Amino acid sequence: MPDLKSANPVFQRMGTTIFETMSQLAGQTGAINLGQGFPEGLEPTALLERLAHTAKSGTHQYPSMMGTSGLRQAVARHERRFWGLDLDCQQSVMVTSGGTEALAASLLALIEPGDEVIVLEPCYDSYIPIIQAAHGIVRSVRLSPPHWDLPRDALEAAFTAKTKLIVLNSPANPIGKVFLPDELEFLADLICRHDCYAVCDEVYEHLVFDGLTHRPLMTLPGMFDRTVKIGSAGKIFSLTGWKVGWVTAAPAVLSVIAKAHQFLTFTTPPELQDAVAWGLDEYLPGYMELSGILAKRRDKLAQGLAQAGFTVLPTQGSYFLTSQYGRFTDTMDDDAFCRSLIAEAGVAAIPLSAFYQDGAPTGCIRFCFAKTDPVLDEAVCRIVEWSNSL
Ligand code: PMP
Ligand code: GLN
Repeated sequence: MPDLKSANPVFQRMGTTIFETMSQLAGQTGAINLGQGFPEGLEPTALLERLAHTAKSGTHQYPSMMGTSGLRQAVARHERRFWGLDLDCQQSVMVTSGGTEALAASLLALIEPGDEVIVLEPCYDSYIPIIQAAHGIVRSVRLSPPHWDLPRDALEAAFTAKTKLIVLNSPANPIGKVFLPDELEFLADLICRHDCYAVCDEVYEHLVFDGLTHRPLMTLPGMFDRTVKIGSAGKIFSLTGWKVGWVTAAPAVLSVIAKAHQFLTFTTPPELQDAVAWGLDEYLPGYMELSGILAKRRDKLAQGLAQAGFTVLPTQGSYFLTSQYGRFTDTMDDDAFCRSLIAEAGVAAIPLSAFYQDGAPTGCIRFCFAKTDPVLDEAVCRIVEWSNSL
């Protein structure tokens, strides 16, 4: 192998994502995979049938880079129906290949070299590398367990004249926090005062539990023109492998994000867009039921983990719950603990350190509860047995 010049340092020095790593390990060892966040047993048959129909009858060529008109209209109706947002589907809606691509296109389009970008840690693992690849400077503000309240003083101090944007994820992965109305108002006030943008990752917008409600930051006074709102059909329909997402934003903001998108993926398979468009209107009762189903599964897993000796932290939304494992060890870091849980208990989880820029161990791990009842029962059984054997 010749001694080649080094690649972009952001990617050269980076490992493989923790989700891939833990899923591979679970696959190799036969562990139950409560690591990577994908649902099981919840895929709606009606959407699969619609996809099969379109696969036979539809077109299989490039759709418009902005998305099919059917899906753009359906997204605009969805945003109006649930959040009261009045969007022009031609100017304010763009289809992407999943929320991940929507995030990348938005961050690459908005960040100029040297811009400061605020993230709330722990945060989803794609944010920081993309900010860095765009030569943005990450300013992280940490939330603390168990309630993960917004640290208002630290947040206020993080805003400077160089702040370009903040990334907000509500409901949040990995902590399951749903930001409260007064926290959103506080954020909106800071963003407007500092003349910044907000990139709002709302892929879990319908997965909110316990009677709480999600409120998009974009709906707050003064926020429409400076907010990018990101959605994902993968999460709405429990079909994460479809990778269909969207960005909604004011026309001036969306037009620049579209310039980045055109050279990332350009477009998304048309038959998938058709099935998602159909589902947003026609499968509405189905996806409205999902949060009730998932809340019961959260409770089942939380109860089992508590029985085994974990300290389970409250979670109000998303697919995830986090747990502290201090009762089992005070020396093992969270990555090592997850690896030993796979090897010894046969259950995979994700170390929370993967959601921090410095990767420091947290004493906390994340479990995905969007699985079938038998899978959760078996996982709990394995963990309780393992805990009793210590
Ligand atoms: N944002 C968050 C917070 C996520 O958890 C995920 C992953 N599921 C995504 C974005 C990416 O969504 P998609 O699978 O639609 O790319
Ligand atoms: N969002 C998923 C999670 O948090 C993972 C998606 C991925 O593997 N890229 O588990």
